[in-house]
Amino acid sequence: MNSMNSEKIPGLYIHIPFCLSKCHYCDFYSLTSVSAVPDFLDAFFKEMEVYRNRFDPFDTVYIGGGTPSLLSPEQLERILIGVRKNFNLISNPEITIETNPADLSRSFLESMRENGINRVNIGVQSFDEKVLNFLGRRHSVKQAISAIEASRKAGFHNIGLDLIYGVPAQDVESWLNTLKQAVVFSPEHVSCYQLTLEAKTPLGIRYRAGEFPLPGEELQYEFFMKTSELLEDAGYIHYEVSNFARGKEHTSRHNQKYWDHSPFLGLGPAAHSFQGNQRWWNHRSLDQYLAAINAGNLPIEATETLTMEQLRLEALYLGLRTKKGISLRDFKNQYHYDLSTQKKKILAKLKEEGFISIEDGYLSPTQTGLAVADSLSLI
Ligand code: SF4
Repeated sequence: MNSMNSEKIPGLYIHIPFCLSKCHYCDFYSLTSVSAVPDFLDAFFKEMEVYRNRFDPFDTVYIGGGTPSLLSPEQLERILIGVRKNFNLISNPEITIETNPADLSRSFLESMRENGINRVNIGVQSFDEKVLNFLGRRHSVKQAISAIEASRKAGFHNIGLDLIYGVPAQDVESWLNTLKQAVVFSPEHVSCYQLTLEAKTPLGIRYRAGEFPLPGEELQYEFFMKTSELLEDAGYIHYEVSNFARGKEHTSRHNQKYWDHSPFLGLGPAAHSFQGNQRWWNHRSLDQYLAAINAGNLPIEATETLTMEQLRLEALYLGLRTKKGISLRDFKNQYHYDLSTQKKKILAKLKEEGFISIEDGYLSPTQTGLAVADSLSLI
């Protein structure tokens, strides 16, 4: 292992692989029966013990999935007690839970707060009932609104809303209406994801059968730029391709770790981990995950050692998706590559064309550059 990320504080990710029903666009690993939750939790506690004190202290904990809000308050409390028993958390950690609006009663939210969870991410996706139905979400617009209001009343000062755009039958105007409704609640964080359809999902199958089109490049660009404009006008910082924060203090500390090669430990089926130049991931299937742990093994499906060149390309790809961009000096120190001299010509061209700026030692995408960030990294 090299020492390139030894200074960075690690984050902890916990994957809860259960959902009550499957959304039509979803490619994540999750099961729709909750009967195996007790077995999963027993195995998860064993997995956590193996990593005891190996990564910590953590400054972020992210309980994702799946739908963690399906668990009972008692089960979530046990998870957080287990985290504190096995790992050190720095003072004032960011502890996030991903939730479905249908699960967010006031008492559930209050119990989350009592357990130390200080950030709630709500999968609202849309304030348009037609879009929710098309996506196969199991909640209504009314439930989304109650969930946000209940989160505030329960004392959450850090609320994130997840939204999806580019849905067939949704025009730019109706998407902007969803955004306008979102900002009424002044969430601290908004994530706007463009709908992508993996081949094997129900919507992916319908798309490939020609039932509906997806927005072409021009329309995608329009969605992207109008989203950015509306949220920036409402006071949000567009700090990453899909992410907006109401002030720097509300950017996601946890997600930042994925973008800057900080170490992170992922527990639970399908969870990924990263440290130094090693990446490893757990079995996707709960059965394989349980079998490995019950046989006394770690549930790791595969491990990958990244070369310096792979790390460098990843850092370029991820860095150019952030508004802050890439510190040329840090990049040179970490990846032994001087972008300003070795990519001088192409950078000058991209700058002239208005895709990037180079200021105060940072190579950053402009707003137009952010819209095509994935192609920018091919320099
Ligand atoms: S709630 Fe999330 S993880 Fe579960 S099926 Fe829907 S999109 Fe997938």
